[in-house]
Amino acid sequence: MKQAIGLAKSGMESGNGGPFGCVIVKDDQVIGSGSNMVTTTNDPTAHAEVVAIRDACKNLNHFQLEGCEVYTSCEPCPMCLGAIFWARPSRVFYACTHEDASAAGFDDSFIYREIQVAPETRQIPMEGMMREESQKVFELWKSKADKILY
Ligand SMILES: [Zn+2]
Repeated sequence: MKQAIGLAKSGMESGNGGPFGCVIVKDDQVIGSGSNMVTTTNDPTAHAEVVAIRDACKNLNHFQLEGCEVYTSCEPCPMCLGAIFWARPSRVFYACTHEDASAAGFDDSFIYREIQVAPETRQIPMEGMMREESQKVFELWKSKADKILY
């Protein structure tokens, strides 16, 4: 966690992005790390956790982080929480809480609220379209013989 907090500080000081850092550990070895890179990479998804997950998965040459521990300098936002669940590490440790982040100007509570409302009533309206056409691709996936399940 000390390293994750260090990355949060150094990433911010070097101008990489916001004050967030993340380290991923497997068998007591750091296998991935990252700091927030949103503003330097023009990538709104480049949160520290996502950067670290990408780094760890690249180093492991695998799309899952089974048996890994995530150390993040701040409680994950909803996007990173989703990414963490998709990556399936065994445990997450966080330092600052989302209340601390909110007090520093990083409020993600609106996203938690948005998740709970119907898609068409969200602040960014979401409308269904071409469902049947898209369902055909799922049918192809179901019958695909050589698929890699994840
Ligand atoms: Zn995040």
